[in-house]
Amino acid sequence: MIMTISEITEKLRQLEVRSSLLEPNQPERDKWSAPVFQYADDFLTSVHEKKTYVVPEDVETLSDFKIEEEGKSVGEVIGILQKEVDTPGINPASGGHLGYIPGGGIYTTALGDYLASVFNRYSGIFFANPGAVRMENMLIRWMNRLIGYPDSAFGNLTSGGSVANLIAIVSARDAMDIKANKVATSCVYLTGQIHHSILKALRIAGLAEIQVRLIPMNNLFQLDVKALRQQVDDDLAEGLSPFMVVASAGTTDTGSIDDLQNIGEFAIAHHLWFHVDAAYGGFFMLVKSEHDKFRGIELSDSVSIDPHKGLFLAYGSGAVLIKNKEQMLRSHVYRANYMQDAYFTEQEPSPADLSPELTKHFRGMRMWLSLQLHGLKPFRACLEEKLWLCRYFYHKVAALGFEVGPEPDLSVCIYRYTTNENDDNQLNAWLVEKIQEDGRVFISSTTIEGVFWLRLAVLSFRTHRKHVDILLEILQREVGNLISSRKEKSY
Ligand SMILES: *Cc1c(COP(=O)(O)O)cnc(C)c1O
Repeated sequence: MIMTISEITEKLRQLEVRSSLLEPNQPERDKWSAPVFQYADDFLTSVHEKKTYVVPEDVETLSDFKIEEEGKSVGEVIGILQKEVDTPGINPASGGHLGYIPGGGIYTTALGDYLASVFNRYSGIFFANPGAVRMENMLIRWMNRLIGYPDSAFGNLTSGGSVANLIAIVSARDAMDIKANKVATSCVYLTGQIHHSILKALRIAGLAEIQVRLIPMNNLFQLDVKALRQQVDDDLAEGLSPFMVVASAGTTDTGSIDDLQNIGEFAIAHHLWFHVDAAYGGFFMLVKSEHDKFRGIELSDSVSIDPHKGLFLAYGSGAVLIKNKEQMLRSHVYRANYMQDAYFTEQEPSPADLSPELTKHFRGMRMWLSLQLHGLKPFRACLEEKLWLCRYFYHKVAALGFEVGPEPDLSVCIYRYTTNENDDNQLNAWLVEKIQEDGRVFISSTTIEGVFWLRLAVLSFRTHRKHVDILLEILQREVGNLISSRKEKSY
């Protein structure tokens, strides 16, 4: 078994020939990049004509696409992608995507990711790449200023709002010293409209046994501050420890913004950690006319905000902002022996000290490049357009005879068709199906206190008035059909 040096040398020569296939030369790179870019370009050129929802026919097929010893041709691979991945289901790049919280995915995200991947710069630790870390930290400071945090605040670019909420809750847990023996007697205050990622984060953070207090809401789906006061008083009287209040700046269901000012003042007075989930709504602060709605957000201890929503970046960009940097470091700093040569500086924090990640995607690049190339102007205009599209829809759909929820704070609203018979929930679920069958636009629904609502969520940068008009046209058509066929109960 023992090999001589010359045998080892020969072995290495052979292996190098084969492993060098991972380093294509210029013509070989062109052979792949030209068709890949062509495929992406054809998609972008025709995206306006494409359906927003294609009912998947055979989701099993892709699982036949085995990983084998020999590579396949780029044409074959693109063909499979087109058929199996890029056609069935929701098309999130479509302006007709009006469900969940869309964003679209602006092209500069792809360019940023391309450069980030080719150079593969390490943005986890300042020592490894001061420029990359400074870029990410600059983006954090920019968002901190946007929400009114001091420059001493910090944060982290995450993969999305869920991880942002998790980092905030873990930091809150440690800052408030909620050790195992205190979990069951500590209380978290939130409403039934909180995003479920908050509850998931509590569980992941080891706080599953914490007392979750669901605070009632007013008729605008905002947290009732009076009820919050009462609940905190009751808990104190019972010897429990109020720990944290979570507010929303743009709920997912209805786009409602809580009374951040009053909640913030109350939280400060009672030494509660105050977290604001602004994953969906936060970037509407770029629209000057909307600023007042967010008044008080700067009183919070932590905020989540999603660039893959309000800045229209492709999926994979969230952010957490934390007012007191030390509280973030406390939960996330760790040193390893094998990293003893890397130095850590006080003046420029490293992302690895502020999140669970060590090696990470250089996700700052996509956001930085987008903001640098476009400037802020088109982002502000696009966000403002979404607000007006929602208001436009709200009035139009009410005029069609639909019941509407509260007047939209942002770019989400709820509506439903009512007949005063007891199967209205079923009727509205049937409307969702009809819209999906049509496929030109996509909507989603929600249930609030047992009532089934249709949702309009306008946040794709590609959504313009024509998409909202298509939805209105389908709703009008289907309700018309419904009225004429109602006696047969066809739905
Ligand atoms: C989307 C959303 C989240 C979750 O963010 P992801 O980026 O999907 O992980 C959390 N909170 C709110 C209010 C959201 O709209």
